[in-house]
Amino acid sequence: MKVRYSYLPQQFADADDLWAALKAFVPTGDFTLGKPLTEFEGRFAELIGTKHAIGVGSGTDAIKLSLKAVGVCHGDEIITAANTFIATVGAINEIGARPVFVDCDDTFCMDTSLVEQAITPRTKAIVPVHFTGYMTDMVKLMPIAERHKLPIIEDACQSILGAQNGRNAGSWGRTGAFSLHPLKNLNVWSDGGVIVTNDDALDRSLRLLRNHGMRNRDEIEILGYNSRLDTIQAVVGNWLIPQTLDISERRIDNAAYYDKHLGALKQIRIPPRRADMRVVYHLYVVFAENRDALLRHCVEQGIEAKVHYPVPLYLQDGLKFLGYKPGAFPVTDRHVHEIITFPCDQHLSRAEQDHVIETVREFYGRG
Ligand SMILES: *Cc1c(COP(=O)(O)O)cnc(C)c1O
Repeated sequence: MKVRYSYLPQQFADADDLWAALKAFVPTGDFTLGKPLTEFEGRFAELIGTKHAIGVGSGTDAIKLSLKAVGVCHGDEIITAANTFIATVGAINEIGARPVFVDCDDTFCMDTSLVEQAITPRTKAIVPVHFTGYMTDMVKLMPIAERHKLPIIEDACQSILGAQNGRNAGSWGRTGAFSLHPLKNLNVWSDGGVIVTNDDALDRSLRLLRNHGMRNRDEIEILGYNSRLDTIQAVVGNWLIPQTLDISERRIDNAAYYDKHLGALKQIRIPPRRADMRVVYHLYVVFAENRDALLRHCVEQGIEAKVHYPVPLYLQDGLKFLGYKPGAFPVTDRHVHEIITFPCDQHLSRAEQDHVIETVREFYGRG
């Protein structure tokens, strides 16, 4: 049996109503900042529980525009998590700011007890990354940010409908950044992103920033970017958004099934499942003994298991200029050798999950 990682070939197999919506939309010619985008933004804000949502070109741009909107400039330091997808760092770098990494804990998110010592007079914002579908401990992070008067921009790209104490990822900080990339839990057919905020002034700045800083057709209020969520992708988003809760619940259910059966093996360690967190399993990651051999075995058995990620960002060639030395982030380093990701998405069948579990069990059974 093959257990594929990407479900994209099957996700839109039964979507006649979406094709009909696209067919009705195209003749309107309403391609930029069109009506379906406004509708999508309203529904997205409602989903997350914020006052505003602003559709932008990508998750990377959602972070970049947010940093710009809270006043981050060239040379400023931005505190973020050591283990994240490169896009978080790319967004910080694009506006000339400097990422300052903080190590993670076993929930794959920033260890909030290490944040304060990373703050310097040049620090201008904190970008916690709600990685793999977990949430950064916002209850701990918020008072630190307040004490130092630092805005928080949440990178919630992997954690739509993740929550702590019932409050959704993205709704804690000054803004929250989401990605609609095809591989994310809520996806469209291209790049796309959304910024959420409760702040009216930020909402206004972000709408200017995403559209060249144009107040209207003839007046430029500030210098901005070209970063609008395509209206045609908003049509896809409007079709999918009613499924978002279901998608996260299916993933949570699949993860609980894996936890029960994989967790029964002494060579597998399940990350902490905190009662105050709703984890939405963008990635299902566990710690495994003899990880490299297990990964090879799974791949040989047709299971597209992966490692997120095999080389930490701070050791990548492209980030050498930051000057970090090997060993600077011990938990992130340890994870590199222990973590393995199994498919956990909403289209995965129990039979496929059983095959994963059986394959892992068989691997360790061989001694
Ligand atoms: C996907 C992702 C992003 C950026 O999203 P894009 O839409 O691909 O630009 C940022 N941060 C994290 C953690 C992500 O996983």
